[in-house]
Amino acid sequence: MSTLPQVEQSLAAIAELDGDIHAITQVFDQSSADPGALPGELSGVPVLVKDNIATTRGTTSCNSGMLENYESPFDATVVERLREAGAVVIGKANMDEFAMGSSTEHGLRTTNHPTHHHCVPGGSSGGSAAAVGAGMVPLALGSDTGGSIRQPAAFCGCVGLKPTYGRVSRFGLVAFASSLDQIGPLASSVEIASQCLNAIAGPDSKDMTSVRRDPENFARYLSEDTSSLRVGLVTSCLTDDNDERINLAVRNAAKRFERMGATIVEIELPSLHYAISSYYIIAAAEASSNLARFDGVRYGTRPSLEGGESLEDLYERARTEGFGEEVRRRIMLGTYVLSAGYYDAYYTKALRARRKIRNEFDGAFCAHELHTMLLPTTPTPAFERGSIQDPLNMYLQDIYTVPANLAGLPAISVPWIDKETERGGLPVGVQLMSPMFAEARMLQAASVLEKD
Ligand code: GLN
Repeated sequence: MSTLPQVEQSLAAIAELDGDIHAITQVFDQSSADPGALPGELSGVPVLVKDNIATTRGTTSCNSGMLENYESPFDATVVERLREAGAVVIGKANMDEFAMGSSTEHGLRTTNHPTHHHCVPGGSSGGSAAAVGAGMVPLALGSDTGGSIRQPAAFCGCVGLKPTYGRVSRFGLVAFASSLDQIGPLASSVEIASQCLNAIAGPDSKDMTSVRRDPENFARYLSEDTSSLRVGLVTSCLTDDNDERINLAVRNAAKRFERMGATIVEIELPSLHYAISSYYIIAAAEASSNLARFDGVRYGTRPSLEGGESLEDLYERARTEGFGEEVRRRIMLGTYVLSAGYYDAYYTKALRARRKIRNEFDGAFCAHELHTMLLPTTPTPAFERGSIQDPLNMYLQDIYTVPANLAGLPAISVPWIDKETERGGLPVGVQLMSPMFAEARMLQAASVLEKD
């Protein structure tokens, strides 16, 4: 047994709580673990890693039949960097199959909300969020392609940070949509999220999209005066379609900023109207290309054949048996929008909308000299398990999170706690989005929302 006190605490909490939550797919044997006593900012901190991030220990299944017993021969760069910072990776966290979903209901295993077990924890990093929300670990890694860190963080009452695209190496992350995917922390506080980003950020020769920038301390503004902050309140996101607790939380958060001396500027972002449709075209297109490698030959479970079948049959059986319904839907949608006859009508148009959204963000940050923008993370708090059956309704969960991925911006969800929004006891999150590479200021603004 490890002698590290935080690790022991986590293991005890997992043993006590996870039977009702099912956030964790594997706990690594700590007796053979690395000592973890390495000095560093995260020395001795137990961390869970989403099951689409490669670890040489255990399996990396993506919660899919396709990779059920897959053992990675290498560690993801983020896993190596966590270890170098002293953290102890204690196991893997459940997710929606191949990170496609918003509820952790898709795939081999489902996860429950940490406190309201009949509700979902959000997704696709639902296991990471539920484990942090329940207090089983102070920190977990997730991946965010269209909101999969921030939405479950909002549902489970923890902090969820999606870094700027390129800030963190994606080497060892099983690719979903490569132009949108980023790894980031789900944490019990803004400070721990900042420390985690310190550990995992930085260029990596194994990921040519990782950005070369000087190292910086993302926590450097956390205790500084916030009166010079300029925050854009995105009023076009506060519609009547949202649950009223969400709008109230965002408006109260704006008041908190004003009380702290920050300047609030009301802004509208009309192009966000196109965000969901462009995201679901681009993400599906990239997924259909990335997941083509899972054919039962190069990657993925190989189906047993009776003999006499063709190679086509082998591919078909592997994909039908290995992938769940949602993954198959995305692959078909992606193949369709990339097909010769429809490429321009859908894919090219979606890329244009993406550009428009990015320009609108740039314009607003610039015109109003904003450090960050304030908007909801989700339209509602956590919903009941099984209550959203229609895929399109599930996709609408991501309405406020996908814009940051399309534009490559850093964004964070912070739990909002006050008496008015506490009704029903379900957590509510508010979101901040900042210009590219402005994480340090964004984290400073996020810490304002944590203080009472
Ligand atoms: N819910 C979104 C989707 O299903 C986002 C997923 C993600 O960020 N990985 O595509």
